[in-house]
Amino acid sequence: MKPMRYISTRGQTAPMGFQEAVITGLAPDGGLLLPERIPDVRDRLADWAELDYADLACEVFRLFVDLPDPVLQDLVKASYAPFRDPAVTPVKPVGDRWVLELFHGPTLAFKDVALQFLSRFFAWYLEQNDRTLNILGATSGDTGSAAIHGVKGLSRLRIFMMHPRGRVAPLQERQMTTVLDDNVFNLAVSGTFDDCQEIMKALFEDIPFKQGLALGAVNSVNWARVMAQIVYYFHAAFRVQRATGSSTVRFSVPTGNFGDILAGWFARAMGLPADRLVLAANENDILSRFFHRGVYRRGEVVSTLSPAMDIQVASNFERYLYYREGMDPGRIDSLLQAFRADGCLEVKPGAQGEIDPVIRAGVGTRTDTLEAIRRVKDAHDYLLDPHSAVGWHVASYHLSDDVPMICLATAHPAKFPDAIREATGRDLAHHPNLDGLLDAPTRSVDLSAETDAVRTFLKEHIES
Ligand SMILES: *Cc1c(COP(=O)(O)O)cnc(C)c1O
Repeated sequence: MKPMRYISTRGQTAPMGFQEAVITGLAPDGGLLLPERIPDVRDRLADWAELDYADLACEVFRLFVDLPDPVLQDLVKASYAPFRDPAVTPVKPVGDRWVLELFHGPTLAFKDVALQFLSRFFAWYLEQNDRTLNILGATSGDTGSAAIHGVKGLSRLRIFMMHPRGRVAPLQERQMTTVLDDNVFNLAVSGTFDDCQEIMKALFEDIPFKQGLALGAVNSVNWARVMAQIVYYFHAAFRVQRATGSSTVRFSVPTGNFGDILAGWFARAMGLPADRLVLAANENDILSRFFHRGVYRRGEVVSTLSPAMDIQVASNFERYLYYREGMDPGRIDSLLQAFRADGCLEVKPGAQGEIDPVIRAGVGTRTDTLEAIRRVKDAHDYLLDPHSAVGWHVASYHLSDDVPMICLATAHPAKFPDAIREATGRDLAHHPNLDGLLDAPTRSVDLSAETDAVRTFLKEHIES
């Protein structure tokens, strides 16, 4: 079979291979890159069900990459070796459902699953092509630390990571700013995560600037992130199917940038036996409102107990919209123009009056989050982090006697000790990797939330 090629949601970019797509990040026309077709794996599921995580990842990635197979296998094996659980992403029964633990990587959040692979791919690619790359990213917390831990100390790579100053959890911030390697630059931006994301988009859309400084992306606009996350949906479904005898499962996904649930959407399009994907949002509920009413309207970002989900403009939503609207780049362009002009876009419901036949959405408030943490701890002696608690809460409205529910646990509770203390009244959440950060020295640079401030900083530190 010919290697997969990647096309842009905006239709103005020539198709490219996987390696180029991953190095490019955002398409030059401002769109997001997508595989030109979605592979159908239904006739392989029985074989795949027996594979361990790394072997399954190789099978999934093989459908999407143009890498020599021994290279692929080496990268995958090395990427998942640092995970502290032999299953990489174990799935555990908790009460009336299952919890898929995605937080056993180096920085204790699910972002490691993709970024451990992506950073190793970058290092290999740059060595092969005798090139250097300057990663520019924006983080609401977990992407930043996972990316920084992936690339710290690697030659040929620098990373410039913007975070909204004072708006990421203190431990998340320390996971980034305590990394003192010369190739790591933490940019503390005086704005929201959406501001950081806007700056990043503006700089990536400035093609001469992007190319001149060899900028690359690790945000979930990068296709490799979505691809890597497809694996655990299959891995978990197989294990829960085996344990319950059920032919179908469903997933609940705490959602911010729509990257994680998009991976589930792709998995399902490939043949994952899931009947529903439950999108769980916090008070920043733009996506939940969209899936109820078909109206995607930007609101103000509010700070919550689940800061990695404090997002109004979800960068991966455009990928979903592309398929939802009949794979028509012209239509995407006009919808996004409307969104840019009015902060609002609207789509028509399907024949059944639903916006999507598979995705169900709901909101977990601050109270819901704290209550879910407390209840699950009391009833099942299991500690959820606040993001996973939002997913648990919303999943409660979508349980079925016949179809097991798998709740994604996207971070280790020790990353959010304040929320755990508020919910349980006790100081239960610790992890040795985090406790050690409290007295470690930190380094970061304060910048205003202006594209030019970041542009100037990059120029000074890359060209010198
Ligand atoms: C990033 C993140 C999310 C949101 O995932 P998206 O792919 O942005 O939807 C949820 N929980 C945690 C802990 C995260 O780090």
